[in-house]
Amino acid sequence: MNSNDIRTEVVVIGAGPGGYVAAIRLAQLGKKVVLVDEDKLGGICLNYGCIPSKAMISASGLFNKIKQSSKIGIKTGKVTIDFSKMQEWKDGIVSKLNKGTEFLCKKNNVTIVKGTAVFENSNRLKISNGKNSSYIDFKKAIIATGSKPVELPNFKFDDKKIISSRGALYLKEIPENLVVIGGGYIGLEIGTIYAKLGSKVSIVEMEDQILPGFDKNVVNVIQKNLEKLDVNIYVNAKADKIENNKIAIDSKEKGKVLLDADKVLVAVGRHPNTKNLGLENTKVKLNEKEFVDVDKNLMTDDENIYAIGDVSVGPMLAHKASMQGKIAAGIIAGEKVSYDNFVVPAVVFTDPEIASVGLSEDEAKDKGIKVKTGKFPFSVSSRAMTREETQGFVKVIANEADDKIIGVQIVGSDASDLISEASLAIKMNSTIDDLALTIHPHPTLSESLMEASEATMGKAIHILKLKL
Ligand code: FAD
Repeated sequence: MNSNDIRTEVVVIGAGPGGYVAAIRLAQLGKKVVLVDEDKLGGICLNYGCIPSKAMISASGLFNKIKQSSKIGIKTGKVTIDFSKMQEWKDGIVSKLNKGTEFLCKKNNVTIVKGTAVFENSNRLKISNGKNSSYIDFKKAIIATGSKPVELPNFKFDDKKIISSRGALYLKEIPENLVVIGGGYIGLEIGTIYAKLGSKVSIVEMEDQILPGFDKNVVNVIQKNLEKLDVNIYVNAKADKIENNKIAIDSKEKGKVLLDADKVLVAVGRHPNTKNLGLENTKVKLNEKEFVDVDKNLMTDDENIYAIGDVSVGPMLAHKASMQGKIAAGIIAGEKVSYDNFVVPAVVFTDPEIASVGLSEDEAKDKGIKVKTGKFPFSVSSRAMTREETQGFVKVIANEADDKIIGVQIVGSDASDLISEASLAIKMNSTIDDLALTIHPHPTLSESLMEASEATMGKAIHILKLKL
């Protein structure tokens, strides 16, 4: 060993919401742990994903709301945007959280190593940092290397005109014309930001609806709002090529169309970071889509190596990565815990927000489960009215056999926060009665969860027993 080499009990590769959380929990449980990352602490989520996007969603949302405030008696002068100031504010949040992550790691005695990690074997990593390299010998390793955006052959990222979500969140100017290829959650979140800031946005989606896989009723609410923002939506459409400032698309409904584009955001999915990791020097196996295969203990086919977060199978979400990080850490430290993929809430921060947990009505039916459903629209929620945010609904799905809540879908303001009550209800095996008999504060949006549960029994107070 040379002086830069390290011997440790556990090494975590990747300091995203999976990796840094795993490292801190391992240290809390008394393990000697090294955290390696080739970039900034916090991973994609903190630096180029969840946090910068949500900051810009808040800022653009506020701008849009101020423009509509005369309806509730607030008159303003002309409201304008200082985009560099907005970006500076967003960068400040990212930097503050970045420093906070480093502080927490250091105070918990996590050793941070900067560099690119490659497995030499099932007990050794090579770390390269510029010209220098060193080795880390470990007993256990956690792979938390995350994912990267999928590139399209005719739209290779050049970081100038053709950009990924990362580039789109760090633009210097608001583009006049933005074409978004991919109508999934990342494309819609960023498309909405720029539409609210004044760009002419077009969304091109190959499937027959934006947000493929989501319930039509949910998609309709979002689509209406996008249209109000003057966003052009092309479904059943394929982006062919880029020529000068135009994107040629082929759309089933509208034929061949040329779209103006100062910037093209390609958001067609993400791919796990499993290449160039030296996994061939270990027993780790990948599935056909190149995600790391893990069991319910998050262990790979190599008993020394675990995998968590985007790089492993399951939804590509930060909170899933973090929970897996805590569980993998617990298992390595000898705790009797395991991971359950069923109660993972998913949120889309569109306008309004979408949040779901557990099974949808269709998924339950596909599994042969007979269900009861109850729906409560925000249009009759007093709190939603006082906020002038009455779009959307809460839908509760319960098993007819035992009244257990098996799924909840919410479209509307604060859906991202409201869904946690539903997650807890499902995790605690709650019945519709449990939710219906829990006193909810008034007037709040959360009352809608109570009313939707009551609606499954035909007993909601604030809606008639109609089919909604
Ligand atoms: P990552 O966050 O991807 O971190 C992996 C880390 O590993 C990186 O820091 C990378 O530098 C490092 N690394 C990779 N290879 C090596 C190597 N060989 N050696 C050393 N280091 C390496 N999820 C949500 O839940 N909510 C949201 O609102 C949300 N919004 C998003 C918005 C956007 C625009 C994007 C792109 C993603 C968003 N996500 C969101 C998804 C979320 O960012 C990911 O699910 C999450 O970051 C995954 O965490 P992770 O720890 O698995 O990996």
